[in-house]
Amino acid sequence: MIRCIGGIIGPAPSNIEKPMTLAEKPRPADPQGDLQHLTEAILAFRDARDWKQFHSLRHLIVSLNLEAAELLELTQWQSDADMVARVADPAGREALADECADVLLYLLLVAAEAGIDLKAAALAKIRKNDAKYPVEKSRGSSRKYTELE
Ligand SMILES: [Mg+2]
Repeated sequence: MIRCIGGIIGPAPSNIEKPMTLAEKPRPADPQGDLQHLTEAILAFRDARDWKQFHSLRHLIVSLNLEAAELLELTQWQSDADMVARVADPAGREALADECADVLLYLLLVAAEAGIDLKAAALAKIRKNDAKYPVEKSRGSSRKYTELE
């Protein structure tokens, strides 16, 4: 069985040994409900400001992508070594964390507006990707699933 966020998601695709990914590692239960707790917090923040009127699904998706672009902007003209240095620098790390948080918060708003159980959707997508990228064909390869032999 595969263990991941939220527990067991199904049988392992093969008996080939592979390193356990972060998503597969068992984790302690969170009584606050992880994503649900965060969603409630951002909805409360929004509703206290009467901003729901601006939050159509389309506008939220646009905003999500704008925040993803702000995250990407932090990498503009930077080498991999520059990015390692940024993470080691408290101010640089905070800027990165802020943009990561903006992306996550808009994603939670998108999911809430569309009625998507983000945790269930993510677990289902891991299963789909597991089927598309069998370990025996994809391990150590950067090829797209359509190009795996
Ligand atoms: Mg931002």
